[in-house]
Amino acid sequence: MERNIKIDAITLKKISLGENNVGVTLLTSQDEQLFVMAFGAKKSKSRLYSGVNQFTYGVWDLYHDPVKDMWRGKEFSVIDSNSEIQLNLERFYSASLFLEIILKSNGSQGVFSLLRDSLHFIQTERDYNRVLIQFLLRILHDQGTLPQFSLCSECGKIVVNEPLFFSYGEELLCKSCNNGRLNSFLNPGILKYCEKTMGLDIQSGLKIGMDRDSSETLKKYLIELIKIYTGGKLLTLNSANGLI
Ligand SMILES: [Zn+2]
Repeated sequence: MERNIKIDAITLKKISLGENNVGVTLLTSQDEQLFVMAFGAKKSKSRLYSGVNQFTYGVWDLYHDPVKDMWRGKEFSVIDSNSEIQLNLERFYSASLFLEIILKSNGSQGVFSLLRDSLHFIQTERDYNRVLIQFLLRILHDQGTLPQFSLCSECGKIVVNEPLFFSYGEELLCKSCNNGRLNSFLNPGILKYCEKTMGLDIQSGLKIGMDRDSSETLKKYLIELIKIYTGGKLLTLNSANGLI
């Protein structure tokens, strides 16, 4: 392993260590999480001062200390501080949820670019819920835990213009397999939306709209899936107190 590296990264988490030091968890452009010590980063004149804040995207110069087996930050230059996330509570909580999900997930290929794009669009898109939905769909897909939206998971029937019923698991059931057991369902519009947008890049996916009720249903469904995937409660959802 190289002793010195220069790498693009987004800051997922910071912890205070002593009077002046900060430990940060970075998501690197190689889709890996890296814990880095940023000595002196609490001082405003530190070169690492702006890099340790959550959501910050930039270039880190890192050094691997072989004695302590620890990565240390040497230099940081900002690409995007993503500071507009802080201006709106709903957007802030959505962006915080992205970070928490990634921290609780196994790494997956493409997660860095997904986060970078999602943080960008959560600040710029008028309908921030769409960004949240697109993030959840894509991260579940990349982790291999997204159900297929075109068929019944019990009988395998391909559904067209029919709803699929669900409880809060991954199974999606056609009307005859469900047989009146479950009341919650994804309507044909939601199923088409998921199928269609997953074939597009996120920017194109965000251009496709959905009515408000469908959007809420899908968001709730995906949040329940991600809760199962990350092993229970997501602290951000508790803090958000119904805002997302
Ligand atoms: Zn079926």
